[in-house]
Amino acid sequence: NRSDVHYFGAGPAPLPTHVLEEAAKVLLNFKDKGIGICEISHRSPEANAILADTKQALATLLDIPDDYDILFLQSGGSGEFSAVVYNLVSIWVEKKRAQIAQEVGDDNDEVLKRLRKAVDEELKLDYLVTGSWSLKASQEAARLVGAKHVNVAVDARKSNDGRFGTIPDESTWTLTSREKGGPAFVYFCDNETVDGVEFPQFPKSLVGEDAPWVCADMSSNFISRKVDVRKYAVIFGGAQKNIGNTGIAIVILRKSLLPPVAQYASPDLLRQLNLPVGPIVLDYPTIAKNNSLYNTLPIFDVWVAGQVMASLVDSYGAKRIGGQEEISNDKARLIYDTLDKYPDVYRVVPDKSVRSRMNICFRVHGGDADKEKQFLADAERRGLTGLKGHRSVGGIRASNYNAVSLDGASKLVTFLNDYARGA
Ligand code: PMP
Repeated sequence: NRSDVHYFGAGPAPLPTHVLEEAAKVLLNFKDKGIGICEISHRSPEANAILADTKQALATLLDIPDDYDILFLQSGGSGEFSAVVYNLVSIWVEKKRAQIAQEVGDDNDEVLKRLRKAVDEELKLDYLVTGSWSLKASQEAARLVGAKHVNVAVDARKSNDGRFGTIPDESTWTLTSREKGGPAFVYFCDNETVDGVEFPQFPKSLVGEDAPWVCADMSSNFISRKVDVRKYAVIFGGAQKNIGNTGIAIVILRKSLLPPVAQYASPDLLRQLNLPVGPIVLDYPTIAKNNSLYNTLPIFDVWVAGQVMASLVDSYGAKRIGGQEEISNDKARLIYDTLDKYPDVYRVVPDKSVRSRMNICFRVHGGDADKEKQFLADAERRGLTGLKGHRSVGGIRASNYNAVSLDGASKLVTFLNDYARGA
């Protein structure tokens, strides 16, 4: 029975029961139309209202300024690894082309020659690699544009015995220098789901008037704390953790990255430069121009996200996402404090300064495989499920997303105490 279980899966993750109950109804009969929400047209007035309401709820929660747009895509989180590269590289190239054309006039061969050289020597995408997901994103960038254009400004494994679990001091990062035109963008993953590493705050070296364009993956800590949206060019995340069910990614995009302010390189030009031309369904200008309805958007997924967000707006009022942040922090503190009480039994994997509030990764009895198996079985008998660590790293991972209640966190804490005391 659903009420007997507390689920700590990392994504797909628990959803509020009241949203699922309502979802069951609207799947059969939406707004008394006699057909379900998955059967209505994505271009119907009802679908438009769902889109508008969901955008509004997100904008309210995160205080998203008017000069940002919100897009919905079917890309998943991983599709956005590619989308940021296609879109921002295209902007970089077009900007460079326009600069060169100003210098040399309309000698197209000369423009192309110089542009080739500029791409070859100057095109850099900066990645902060602090865990498995930013690593994957950097690998996708290298696959698309070539490894020589990807500058891994920090690889956290290098100073930590080959494992993720820290965020090295910013003074050690090798960001592409702004004197050299800076990178096309800087990319980081705000919360590393597999490794349990979260940025405690926005990196200081990325702040400032002429700060580079920052892209952040917030798949696993979206709407769990306040975000100063203006510091970012692009924020994205798959919905299936804090927000909703699998099927959509949400992108918050600075409008100046869209036409008419930003211009994109033509597909022909990109081909001439041996740079990739992205699929149209990942093209931010196309998706924005069509209000995320360039092609068939899974409106049910947007509806679920909208319901989850609307209930946060209702619950926290003027505190907005700050209300959820307090609860998320409290739940995480409860669990970490308990783990820290028994150093002979539990060891939290990441460094204390970067512990994720969302994905709490730890080992039991030094990572003894049999004991961890037993731990998971004992937890399951108490209705605490989904605690197995990611297959790539093993161990235990308690994902503490928004829909995990304080009661759920407290039950986990009781179990952690009992297990450690051999009760
Ligand atoms: N980024 C992060 C931080 C993730 O946790 C995940 C999925 N767990 C992804 C990206 C990939 O998302 P998707 O599976 O939707 O492609």
